[in-house]
Amino acid sequence: MSNNDKPLSDAGESRRNFIRQTAVAAAIVTIDPLSIAAKGIANTSAPSEPWYRTITRWGQVNITEKDPERYDIEWWRKYWKRTATQGVVINAGGIVAYYPSKIPLHQHAQYLNGIDLFGKLCKAAHDDGLAVFARMDSNRAHEEFYQAHPDWFSVDINGKPYKAGDLYISCIFSPYYTEHLTAVLREIAELYKPEGFTDNSWSGQGRDAICYCNNCKKSFLSRSGKEIPRVKNWDDKTYREWIRWNYDRRLEIWDLNNLTTKAAGGANCIWAGMNSGSISGQSRSFRDYKEICKRAEIIMLDDQARNDAEGFQHNGEIGKLLHGLLGWEKLVPESMAMYQAGRPQFRVASKPTAEARMWMINGIAGGIQPWWHHVAAYHEDRRMYQTAAPVFQWQKQNESYLINRKPVASVGVVWSQQNTDFYGRDNAGELVDLPWRGMTQALLRARIPYLPVHADHIDRDASQFSVLVLPNLAGMSNDQVNSVKKFVEAGGSVIATGDTSLYDEWGDKRTDYALADLFGAHFVNTVDKKEAISKLAGNAYHTYLRLSPELRSQVDGPKIAGEPVIAGKRHAILEGFEETDILPFGGLLNTLNIDAGVEIPLTFVPQFPVYPPETAWMKEPKTNIAGLVISSKPKGGRVIFLPADIDRQFGLNNLPDHGNLLKNIVHWAAKDSIPLTVEGAGSIDCHLYKQTGRLVLHLVNLTSAATKNCFIFFSGLDSIYC
Ligand SMILES: [Zn+2]
Repeated sequence: MSNNDKPLSDAGESRRNFIRQTAVAAAIVTIDPLSIAAKGIANTSAPSEPWYRTITRWGQVNITEKDPERYDIEWWRKYWKRTATQGVVINAGGIVAYYPSKIPLHQHAQYLNGIDLFGKLCKAAHDDGLAVFARMDSNRAHEEFYQAHPDWFSVDINGKPYKAGDLYISCIFSPYYTEHLTAVLREIAELYKPEGFTDNSWSGQGRDAICYCNNCKKSFLSRSGKEIPRVKNWDDKTYREWIRWNYDRRLEIWDLNNLTTKAAGGANCIWAGMNSGSISGQSRSFRDYKEICKRAEIIMLDDQARNDAEGFQHNGEIGKLLHGLLGWEKLVPESMAMYQAGRPQFRVASKPTAEARMWMINGIAGGIQPWWHHVAAYHEDRRMYQTAAPVFQWQKQNESYLINRKPVASVGVVWSQQNTDFYGRDNAGELVDLPWRGMTQALLRARIPYLPVHADHIDRDASQFSVLVLPNLAGMSNDQVNSVKKFVEAGGSVIATGDTSLYDEWGDKRTDYALADLFGAHFVNTVDKKEAISKLAGNAYHTYLRLSPELRSQVDGPKIAGEPVIAGKRHAILEGFEETDILPFGGLLNTLNIDAGVEIPLTFVPQFPVYPPETAWMKEPKTNIAGLVISSKPKGGRVIFLPADIDRQFGLNNLPDHGNLLKNIVHWAAKDSIPLTVEGAGSIDCHLYKQTGRLVLHLVNLTSAATKNCFIFFSGLDSIYC
């Protein structure tokens, strides 16, 4: 029997007036219309929108330098038609030009030989009624350019230029960006009139290398009155300022490029850059997603394939996260590789069709628009040409359901890029991404619709949620803390885990959780009790959580002589665990000061040996160290604080006990506000939307043969329940 064999919502039958048996997942779907209606979502679509609001199917051949002499444009025009493509991304300039550029040092592609490849493709696309994004690739240059302007390129602390292979990395604070690239943008806009511009490497050198060129030195001195930091040191205020100064420069370049292309190509000739599907990736590239989305008319998402840790479901989630910043009226096309992208990488071999389509389908479920992507215009592996068309044709037929809609969810999961930067620092994968993944994976597994919410948007978005989840949102500003408090004062429920609110937005540790009063638990600044024993059980410590009250004397199992019968009823959060008094944990915990009036249903059992088995008995079976602290607030809100990092553990190991505990916690916090119930076995990613007069539900079946009867999260596919 699986835990998912029973309804996940206890909404009464009388409220279920939408029940449908789906063939896709053999699941029973129950949508609670009352809880949706209460959210009051409007749906509007203005007439005569600009091109970047209406084109929903994109394509791209990422041109190689060999292609000018072998590009079969007539064949590709048929491919555009077959895939119902409405817009194409065409390489124009940057590292090399695919047209006879007259800009000095704008080197022509090796096999261009006077061919105006960009011009021909641009004309073909326009003749066929397609929009054109001129694609730039602009953060490095050849030796000749470097010799002409050595002061435009990044250098290390010894003045040695940074290089990527044979190419030199241009400095984003130099005239390479303000003079050279703007001249290239103007030339292309005036000659070819593309609808807009995009650029996959617009943000220059990443965080891992500090540039000490004279442009940087001068600019940083005038901003901060200080020298550029000599080393990375997250505790150093100057280093933090260097980080922020770098972010701000990317935003200046974003604005400058837009001014340039609009001046040369008209008000709708936008420059849209490209951005990543990973917040940690955006952080490493100094791309401030919230600020970029404030400026952007469209997000060109460069997130081509599934990675092992996050799975296909990441594509649905990132779509929703970006729309949360950008608005649901705007579009988020995503470059989807038709070749084997990710791990391993084979640029000119076909990606397995099912793999490519699953990524596309899960993205579409999250509000992303498809954009086929091939590297090179000629392939010997022609199987890749069959991948996109069925999905694109399906998207075309169903387009009215896929755009101009608003998501429906009562659970918001809170994030911020600043938390990734200044709390996560160089360890964001473990500190920030893993708890996020464990929490959202538990929500997916329980078929609970959720939306990512930026911590600065809690006030704006709070009215649609009954629960906010803060998965180890350690670094929080005072304003963000106050927004959470206000949410609870208004009757909302909060689930917080790990170090949530223990740091400020710059990553400095506070003396107590800023949300301590809400949690009913206070941080105790003792010497870190982390045990000296190394991790004995793989990635997890050999620790447990004790359930309270224990039921050992009431259920079947060996008894110890004289054992007292323990009375008492367990909290609803522990439902389903009646046959056990302990749960595997895997993390470590320290003592907290606990306020009166809260409940502690789980306490910590410290580590004891795994090997040899003779020693595997609890040396300290009971402590008063809280693993879970819960309280009910006067306005009806429920606050659940999990100092135990169950979310991180679930992200790491995918143990069903951890997933079930998180599911119980969310259900208790949400009371009966979860709008959707999907019954039946399998791993189903559910995305629910509202349009005027109707609901739209995506059920993405993530179940596969390889995951049957397996508890382990592997290759991105969720477990199915044994
Ligand atoms: Zn520099």
